[in-house]
Order: sequence, then structure tokens, then C-alpha cells
Amino acid sequence: MGIGAGGTPSARRRCWVESANDPEGDFPLENLPFGLYEEERLRRHTCLAIGDRVLDLLACRDAGLLNATQIVGLGPRGLGHMELWRAREIRHRAAELLSDPTYRAAVEPHLIPQSEVRMLPPFGVGGIGDYTDFYASIHHATNVGRLFRPDNPLLPNYKWVPIGYHGRASSIVISGTEVRRPSGQTKAADAEAPTFGPSRMLDYELEVGFFIGGGNALGETIPLEQAEKHIFGLCLVNDWSARDIQAWEYQPLGPFLGKSFATTISPWVVTLDALEPFRVPAMVRPEGDPQPLPYLSAERDRERGGFDVNLEVWLATAKMREGGQAPVRVSRGNMKDLYWTLAQMLTHHASNGCNLRPGDLLATGTVSGATPESVGSLLERTKRGAEPLALPNGEQRKFLEDGDEVILRGWCEREGYTRIGFGECRGVVGVAKV
Ligand code: MN
Repeated sequence: MGIGAGGTPSARRRCWVESANDPEGDFPLENLPFGLYEEERLRRHTCLAIGDRVLDLLACRDAGLLNATQIVGLGPRGLGHMELWRAREIRHRAAELLSDPTYRAAVEPHLIPQSEVRMLPPFGVGGIGDYTDFYASIHHATNVGRLFRPDNPLLPNYKWVPIGYHGRASSIVISGTEVRRPSGQTKAADAEAPTFGPSRMLDYELEVGFFIGGGNALGETIPLEQAEKHIFGLCLVNDWSARDIQAWEYQPLGPFLGKSFATTISPWVVTLDALEPFRVPAMVRPEGDPQPLPYLSAERDRERGGFDVNLEVWLATAKMREGGQAPVRVSRGNMKDLYWTLAQMLTHHASNGCNLRPGDLLATGTVSGATPESVGSLLERTKRGAEPLALPNGEQRKFLEDGDEVILRGWCEREGYTRIGFGECRGVVGVAKV
């Protein structure tokens, strides 16, 4: 067995889809993340990624390869109505279909090259009901705070409250969608009045998103011990940010138009089952830090609430692409460096009785580590433009320019286990509308 609860290393099961056995690949049998793709006739199909293919679950159902109890939630609205235990059953069944050669003839017609399908947000277009973005990396919070308040980088609530803001679900786009440079009000420090025009400080934010798979009724809360049962799975998130718009508008109510113009997500939802072997303890709080309040505190969450996910940002400028140059890595961090766990963020979100709903997207906030190479935004990487990034072809970047492509990647590795990955989260910066 190579799938499911992975407490111990397992012998690797071979997949008859040869690309799924690539030790450097993102989508082996042990991953099987969910997604949604659209056919020409605008028919939407829930699918799984396997190697360089997608497995069409709707077609498998029609062919009798998935049984009746497994089909709920496979409709055109994407994953919104799939309960987690069904997702687990489907992954188990799919692993069986994809490893046992006797199923090959029946299943092969329902495999399509990933390069030939148009992916949609996994919960359908418009299916992501709400989007909340946290601020769970203490390194990010400290780095950003230091740029604005050198003597007092971290605000006093940080170690007590998982800080977040309500983002905009309508502008969440799937990987590969062009992101138009936003216009807005900005004000230079020495200017008397703001002006309106294209942002000149466009940035990316490297984040991990998690989809709600089961919600809570309005007025009800979600205990920390139960929190992960409400998480369908994880994806990569680029929370594009216009720093100049943000700096002028953010006080006193927080991010608004500097963020809401676009958020890009990767198409595949990697389940917590698949991530089980890559669990780690939550970040150990340094001596002197307060312990979380009781509603945010549980032994299991401390011991297993973190995830060892390598996260990278790659950049390809228009000039690099024209010159046939490969993207260059500008950052490498890890999700285990977060100050707050996914469970703590979720429990805190519902702690006032706010109802979370299937398909809601919560994100960690920029994932930054302790070193300059592990920060998840250009704001931090270039110290707000003071130390431009030198690219191999001689170009420099303080912030993103038109034609720049940002590529986020994430993957998990551990001795004795099969590597799994998240796929990519891509977006090219398009020119502002004039
Ligand atoms: Mn963010």
C-alpha cells in the first residue's frame, strides 16, 4: 500500500501511467489531488491528477468504474458537495484502478494529457464563496513591520491572535490567467496629495491556501481538535499585492484595493491524507512567547499541526522568455515556519460563530522564513525596492514589471516516502488598462 494514513514508510506501488512513477514528479499514486476541468461543450468534470494526465472522474462514473456512493459531489459545481470520506474513498479506488493492470483497458480512455485540458478553480467558477487571508508567518510580519516601524516591528496582538483580513473571492483566478496591473490611488511620501494611476510597486505573495470541505452553522464554533476535519485540502496561492496602493489605503481598516484585483490559485487540491507523511510539529514558540489561549491550544496540534512543504517562487521576465532563458528561482521557504497552524487559523475564524462554508478558501498569508532567500514577497526580498534583485541576464527588479511571469511551486519530500507536489501556480503581469 502506498496511500492513505502514512505513519510508516511504504513500498512504492507502481502505476501503469508511466509518468506517475517519475521520482521527481508532483503527481504519483500517493498524491491524487482533486481538480475541475472544462470540456469544449462547457461540461465540467471533477478529476484527479496522475502523472502528466488527468483522470476524469465523471467519465469513470459513467463507465461504472466508480460506484454510486462515490459519485456524489462530482457534478458541475466541482468539489463543493463532496464529503471528505467520499474523497478518501475515491482516492483509494482511483489508486486501485491506476495500479492494477487489469483495469488499464477500461480506465485508459478516461485519462487526458494535462496539457490538453483547461482547468477551473476546483470549486467551480464563482464557487469559492469567501476568501480569507491570514498573516501566519512571524518572519513575514516582522519583516514587513520593520519596513514601516523599525523600532517596533511586531504589533502586540501578533502572538495572541491569528491575524487575517477578508479578501475578495470574485477575483480569484486559476493558474495561467493573466493578471492586469491594477490602477489606484498612491501617494509618495513627499507628495502633498495622492494621484491615480497604474501601480508601480506590484508584488507577489507566496502562500498556501486551504479549502473548507465541511462548514459550521452560523453561531456555532469549531473546536481545535475538530478543525482539520473541515479542511478538504491545500493549494498554492499568489496573493498579488500593489504595495503603493496598499500603503496609502491600509490604515485604519487593513488591505482593500491593493489586494482585491487578483489572487491566483493552483488548480489541484492536495488532500490532508496525501500530506499525512509530511506532518511535523507546529513551530516551537521561542522562550518568552506567550502560549496560545486554551481555545487555540491542543497537544495533537502542537505535535502534528505543521506541514513540511517546500515552497518556491520562480520568475521569468518577458526578456528572459524571448531569449529562451529558463525561469530563475527567487525564493525558497517552507510551510513549517508558520507561527500559527492551519487548525488554529480555522478555529479562530469560527470562534465568533462566523459560518465557514464548503468551498471557502483560507490562506496562510505570505510564507517567509528567517533567511533573506526564504522570504515570500519582493517587498521583503528587495527591502521595498532599496536592494534590487539582480537577474542572470542583467535585468534588475525592485517590483514586478509588465510581462513578468511569477511561478509558485510546492512539494514534499521525506526519506522513505514518495515525493508529492502541488503543481504550479502561474501568472503573467499584463499592462494596466488606461
Ligand atoms: Mn497575503
